[in-house]
Amino acid sequence: MTGREWLQKAKAEKWAIGAFNVGNLETFKAIVQAAANKKSPVIIESSPGETSWIGPENVIDLARNYSQQFGIPVLVNLDHAKNLEECQQGIDAGYDLIHFDGSELPLEQNIEIAKKVVELSHAKGLVVEGEMDHIMGSSEIHQGSALEEAAKGAFSDPEKAVEFVKSTGIDIFAAFFGNVHGVFSAGDEKLHLEVLEQLSAKLPDTFFSLHGGSGISGDQVKEAIQRGIVKVNINTELREAFRANLQEEMKEHPDEYAMYKLEGPVLEEVQKVVEEKIDIFGSFGKA
Ligand SMILES: [Zn+2]
Repeated sequence: MTGREWLQKAKAEKWAIGAFNVGNLETFKAIVQAAANKKSPVIIESSPGETSWIGPENVIDLARNYSQQFGIPVLVNLDHAKNLEECQQGIDAGYDLIHFDGSELPLEQNIEIAKKVVELSHAKGLVVEGEMDHIMGSSEIHQGSALEEAAKGAFSDPEKAVEFVKSTGIDIFAAFFGNVHGVFSAGDEKLHLEVLEQLSAKLPDTFFSLHGGSGISGDQVKEAIQRGIVKVNINTELREAFRANLQEEMKEHPDEYAMYKLEGPVLEEVQKVVEEKIDIFGSFGKA
């Protein structure tokens, strides 16, 4: 099944596919093992930084190899590509989904590039995600309030979203309705589900993604999935689990130098996070 077919199935059955960022081989392995345990389709994604660290061709090859090894669908998403060159690189490498994030560009320029990305991607049957309203925050642990961070941006306006989708031809709309990138110490992440409801009502044929899935309560995420979210992006919680557990392992085993032995238990902790998310998203048993 293609990326589009998986998203259609998720939408019709009201569940979502987790899109998990890969920063290294260990998180990659943890994600696919979790998906295999849960018999779930999964999206592997790499941001521009992660893509250049691993190499786009390597991301694709690892995904295809793991998909075969574990017998589950592993789709690959280019996450927050900021320009046409990065999108072209992802298209050429064989990514299944291309997220062009022009949300910090002037709207006219965002539309112009998004149209081009759609044209190039659709020619190869790929799915394109667009972003108009810049989703605040970054994929780290922040001191402070998610509500305050969200208030720095402007939530997606349904009328403007319709114009954006119509003029660009994108398939997935990265909606901003209270979700922020990262995890905030105040723990006050709050989704404005009424905004998502309005977007879904105005754009019945568009898929919606939820960025900044880390830190949002499972109940809120489930409500969002009932209202049209089919792709949930998770990064920070994986980074958090990886780093904290690696520090712990190194402290506990000061004489261990075989990195893979230190990283085994770390991988298991990252895997647990992914399995919990898959349960929340309702994608278990769908592969
Ligand atoms: Zn994002």
